[in-house]
Amino acid sequence: MTGTAIVVGGGIGGLATAVALHRIGWQAVVLERAAELREIGAGMSQAPNAMRALAELGVGEQAGAAGVPTYSAGNLRLPDGRYLQRARPGDPTPLLAFHRADLHRVLLEAVPAGWVRAGAEVTGIQHDSGAVTVTWSGGEASADLVIGADGIRSTVRRLLWPDAPPPRFLGRTAWLGIADTEADTEAGTGAFADADGLSGSITMGVGGYFLIHPISRGRAYWAYVTTSDQPGVRNEDEKSEAARRLTGWHEPIPALIAATPAQAVIHIDICDLDPLPTYVRGRVALLGDAAHAMSPDRGQGAGQSIEDAVVLAAALADEPADEPAGESTVEAALRRYDTERRPRTQATARGARADGRRTTSAAAHRALVSMIRLMPAPLWRKGITADGNATWRWQPPHLPSPTTRL
Ligand code: FAD
Repeated sequence: MTGTAIVVGGGIGGLATAVALHRIGWQAVVLERAAELREIGAGMSQAPNAMRALAELGVGEQAGAAGVPTYSAGNLRLPDGRYLQRARPGDPTPLLAFHRADLHRVLLEAVPAGWVRAGAEVTGIQHDSGAVTVTWSGGEASADLVIGADGIRSTVRRLLWPDAPPPRFLGRTAWLGIADTEADTEAGTGAFADADGLSGSITMGVGGYFLIHPISRGRAYWAYVTTSDQPGVRNEDEKSEAARRLTGWHEPIPALIAATPAQAVIHIDICDLDPLPTYVRGRVALLGDAAHAMSPDRGQGAGQSIEDAVVLAAALADEPADEPAGESTVEAALRRYDTERRPRTQATARGARADGRRTTSAAAHRALVSMIRLMPAPLWRKGITADGNATWRWQPPHLPSPTTRL
């Protein structure tokens, strides 16, 4: 079956969906509210499950080239610098770290020219008898299928899932930044002399942790996630606030904050979504954070949205090729998407929420640190191989290219 689709949102999930639809021979338009299509934010990692999904979209090589191997799961430290687990030099790592904009660009380059419309904020959706009609600032169009990939505060979800609860604040807040480590090393300050510290690590303090990923072009992404009583508390100088809270933590943490431009330090609150009873209403499907925004503790939110895109396209492609994209065929494909994606994404979100909770109190921190310290290093290393982790083992369905389906 081929047909037409409107994708609401041009983030990683929306663009992955557009690429997936293109691969199975559908026509689509991506409506993005922002005046310019770009990924804001700092960095992220992608695990083997997401990298396999990207390969199925035909951008595996480009994504692989944009990422940098990170040892964040192998180097676990305490704020005084001691290691709880330590990656061995030369060990392979299955995690790649990215500047968000780099991964976004890889996907955008694979979307056919003319498919993306920026400055188009979707405000209405209506199911008609033969199609779905979407209204946006400046236009209206109908298609066989609409995908709401418009993020945690999704308009599509608000319009069609009016009973869904709003995002849940998880009692945690985060500072994020990108430090220019190369410029600093070249300047000879010596702040990053311990290159090991930049290969990727997580430092676990009481009530919070500090994550480092190396990313392309001599930069490092960092994130400090900690507890907070209420959302929305902001500081005049977020960089100084992050530095103050991390006083006394081991290098290169203070050096990374110092090497980050003040205006580039981002402060956000951590929220997720309670599980939805369905991701599908008629010919409309939710995808990515709009369907299952999750706490960042498993580094899976964007990866799950890429998986969603591949599974959705595979379900559409499975419908008979000579059938028009009618109500029953589109709805049948969406039901399969829903049945396949809800259990996995909601289990991942539940796990991420629970992992986050484990970092918040002194007692939870003590228990977690003891568990990691007591785990034999070979066992720990096995858990962070491509096969060692149940979430990472996921295999994408095969997307038939339009030519193979003819
Ligand atoms: P978004 O990125 O939110 O994109 C939604 C898009 O829709 C936006 O461009 C928005 O402008 C647009 N939009 C919104 N409303 C409308 C409208 N009405 N009309 C038109 N357009 C609209 N994930 C990982 O995989 N690995 C990680 O390491 C990782 N780390 C994270 C760290 C932190 C601190 C956080 C907060 C998240 C992290 N995530 C990570 C999760 C990841 O950021 C998200 O899951 C992912 O970006 C979701 O992509 P999306 O396309 O679904 O939504």
